[in-house]
Amino acid sequence: MPATKQVIVIGAGLAGLAAATRLTQAGVDVRVLERAGKPGGRVATDHVEGFRLDRGFQVLLPAYPEFRRLVRPARLGLRGFTRGALVREDGGMRLLAGPWHGPGAVRGVARMVGQRPGDVFALARLSVRDAALPASALGRGGDHTVAEELRGRFSAETVETVLRPFVAGVFLDPDLMTSARLFHLIWRSFVLGGAAVPELGMQTLPQLLADRLPPGTVETGQEVAGLGDHDVRLTSGETVSADAVVVATDGTTAARLLPEIEPPAWHAVTTWYYRVARPPCSAPTLALDGTGALPINSLVLSQAAPTYAPPGASLVQASVPGVADSAGDLEPRVRERLAVLYATDTRGWDLLATYPIEHALPVLPPGTPLRRPVRVRRGRYVCGDHRDTPSIQGALVSGRRAAQALLADLL
Ligand SMILES: Cc1cc2nc3c(=O)[nH]c(=O)nc-3n(C[C@H](O)[C@H](O)[C@H](O)COP(=O)(O)OP(=O)(O)OC[C@H]3O[C@@H](n4cnc5c(N)ncnc54)[C@H](O)[C@@H]3O)c2cc1C
Repeated sequence: MPATKQVIVIGAGLAGLAAATRLTQAGVDVRVLERAGKPGGRVATDHVEGFRLDRGFQVLLPAYPEFRRLVRPARLGLRGFTRGALVREDGGMRLLAGPWHGPGAVRGVARMVGQRPGDVFALARLSVRDAALPASALGRGGDHTVAEELRGRFSAETVETVLRPFVAGVFLDPDLMTSARLFHLIWRSFVLGGAAVPELGMQTLPQLLADRLPPGTVETGQEVAGLGDHDVRLTSGETVSADAVVVATDGTTAARLLPEIEPPAWHAVTTWYYRVARPPCSAPTLALDGTGALPINSLVLSQAAPTYAPPGASLVQASVPGVADSAGDLEPRVRERLAVLYATDTRGWDLLATYPIEHALPVLPPGTPLRRPVRVRRGRYVCGDHRDTPSIQGALVSGRRAAQALLADLL
């Protein structure tokens, strides 16, 4: 590409950073204009009273193929969670995990084998199938909702108490109306690599990608107001000339900047973070509550990554998908359910922060192609998790795809 060509990427979330990475590797000079004060977009970590609080509980699946293509996992100091879950049932808590996790797991699985052996077999079959098949095969074929997929494979009891709260937490969709094809792809990554957080917070991932770009590539505090034929207008009034533009914002903003793009619908979530003196659970195990009205998932994050809490304290997260509880009305109910879930008194737990997030994940209904076009026309491209799967994997891969489309046009 001639050195005079000016390429602008709008947005330094994972998609924009992945696009800039690919373009830079191809020798293209890129400016990344980012509205916020730091790169990362929806992957951000706040520092509050010695705690690391991710802006909404989220996890990295180390088996994501695009993550592995871009980053050596060892660079992030990943801290894994238990491969399994603590599940609330009417008779109490049950640990569903491999027997090597101790007597609790042996008892939990043995009880499940005794009560619903078909479900144990179905779970093993699902996991072996999704891990063995190539990702491309899982993304093809007919599609329906996750609810239909799970009901076709498992008993109603297992769906309600185990799978619904788990899947609701992953897709932020308690009604399970998400595409079953997406479910199989994400399940595959869980089976192959489990879930983890970087020891210094989720933001380490976008920061690592930004730090690898040539110095000065990411320009923060630059909000784009609109696109002209050969330029980009900033809200500051400044105009930046551009031969090619990659719109790497969230889907709603992308639709405002590019009339060709349909705005996505969104799933919401609220995460509450608590400071506790003693961890209510000794392992980094996701605790799920499918018995109450709120499909809560909770985890003692500092049991996975002790660096998430200052010495002598523990950090508990609780998330309820599907609602962005800005008024804080839900918190007392969540605290009450956490007391039941962990069989402990939660009245003294210190609420550190609440993150109500209205636009957390784009909705992906059944039948939606898992890869949507990233080339709008010559010189204009779009990426972000609304173009691919709503996930870290989807954002990263969409960025590479948009960069490749640009390079194919302009090189
Ligand atoms: C609470 C929560 C939990 C999640 N959990 C998981 C999980 O466990 N696993 C998983 O894989 N994924 C999870 N995700 C999804 C994942 O974080 C996103 O899919 C991904 O980060 C999206 O990246 P993106 O680059 O497409 O968009 P964004 O992160 O939204 O980036 C867009 C960027 O564009 C910037 N921007 C917007 N408008 C403008 C403008 N006008 N001018 C300049 N810049 C602009 C924004 O500031 C932002 O930096 C979760 C998301 C949330 C919010």
